[in-house]
Amino acid sequence: MRYGFVIDQTRCIGCHACTVACKEENGVPLGASRTWVKYVEKGEYPHTRRHFAVLRCNHCDNAPCVTICPTVALYRRPDGIVDFDGHRCIGCKSCMQACPYDALYIDPDTHTAAKCHFCAHRVERGLEPACVIVCPERAILAGDLDDPASEVARVVAREPVTVRKPEQGTRPKLFYVGADHATLVPQLQETPAAWLWGQRSGEWAGDVGPPGTTTKSVEALGRVAYDVAHEPRPWGWRVSAYLWTKSIAAGAALYAALGVLGGWGPAGRRLPAVALLFVLLTTILLVVDLKRPDRFLYVLTKGNPRSWLVWGAWILMAFGGVTTLWLAAVAGGGGAALGVLAGPWIALALAAAGYSAFLFAQAEGRDFWQSPLVLPHLLAAAIVAGGAVALLAHGPSRPVRGLLLLGLGAHLLLILAELFVHHPNLDAAAAARLVTGGPWRGRFWGGVVVGGTLLPGLCLLSASPLLGGLAGLLALTGLYLYEDVWVRAGQAVPLS
Ligand code: SF4
Repeated sequence: MRYGFVIDQTRCIGCHACTVACKEENGVPLGASRTWVKYVEKGEYPHTRRHFAVLRCNHCDNAPCVTICPTVALYRRPDGIVDFDGHRCIGCKSCMQACPYDALYIDPDTHTAAKCHFCAHRVERGLEPACVIVCPERAILAGDLDDPASEVARVVAREPVTVRKPEQGTRPKLFYVGADHATLVPQLQETPAAWLWGQRSGEWAGDVGPPGTTTKSVEALGRVAYDVAHEPRPWGWRVSAYLWTKSIAAGAALYAALGVLGGWGPAGRRLPAVALLFVLLTTILLVVDLKRPDRFLYVLTKGNPRSWLVWGAWILMAFGGVTTLWLAAVAGGGGAALGVLAGPWIALALAAAGYSAFLFAQAEGRDFWQSPLVLPHLLAAAIVAGGAVALLAHGPSRPVRGLLLLGLGAHLLLILAELFVHHPNLDAAAAARLVTGGPWRGRFWGGVVVGGTLLPGLCLLSASPLLGGLAGLLALTGLYLYEDVWVRAGQAVPLS
């Protein structure tokens, strides 16, 4: 059994009855919608036409929201409905990043994620979803796609149906009949600052960028005449800061362990203490970013083994544990214990630095984060952050200056490759343009490239402790600025 929807846009009159019935049936609070009708207008007056698209969860057969959810709050039922359990949700917002269709929101009352759940409570009693019942045009059909006798299966077999973003590989089970392409693809829509009965907010691709570099297709361009509010950026500065503090923790551990193994670094307490402090800060940032921080232990007690959020939590805990053992070994005189711990510590530092690449890859709604260069970039960021901290802690030794120079060079090359080498699709290209030519171009070129990479590189050519310290501070600042624009730009491209 595979429940799915068919929405016939040739019948839809844009009356919003489905939206209202859904809100009433499911107690959806003000400001949130589980299903909504988007109006897109095409043409020039007087030859204009308004098109509608009813948007909601697609109950994907291959649902990325289910994969990334760290606590199995989102799950696929045996009947194909993608349902959620608000009592397990910790409000990490990762599902909002994984869903390519903008289907999820954070309930302002419960601070947990929610979305269309096919009115599962009605379906279990043999009733149809509220939106199906209320639609005056019978534009919405719900039923078992596996049953060839069902109306949904017959329409899907008979009509030329379409789905949103088939290239994402999510296998949506919401099929549109007669939908205008421009209503389903946000990159084909011009988004004005205001529309019927409301205003939009947030950063949107296409608002910025040099002339001729817009992501929109002129032939198919439509104007959004009505939409609902969307969370413009579920992850903010805390996630940028988490990437930064994690790079510092991992990098400090790498330099401390490699220094002891290679005989060029002191077996002191400063670097391991920095690693421990920053892994603690990383954990605090992750917890306070949750909408339900009181439930943070669910990641461990109700963990989804497919989610990299869960793997990340275990890696950070193991890394923090070995860092504590390293500090204890240093306090006890070092010696053989450090030799035993160095290997596992280096492995865990690399894992702590790099696991976020897999987490961001699970955020499948954000094409900009899907680059294969994210993993090497996070490792280069740890080399830069660790080198900067080592410079500040112990002065500009030759090996540290050399490693930091290498790290800065790799960091710059990887940034330029991420932003300028071929992008797999329009969304990724649009996000890259926001960084290099959009609202963050000053921060990127001035703060990241010149101030955060080239200047510290020049400072490192000298052995002066003063210039070494300056290089460390500049490199750390540039690193934070890049993490921040990278996190923001990935979320600035509209999903619906
Ligand atoms: Fe629904 Fe989005 Fe999850 Fe697909 S990925 S099942 S559309 S919430």
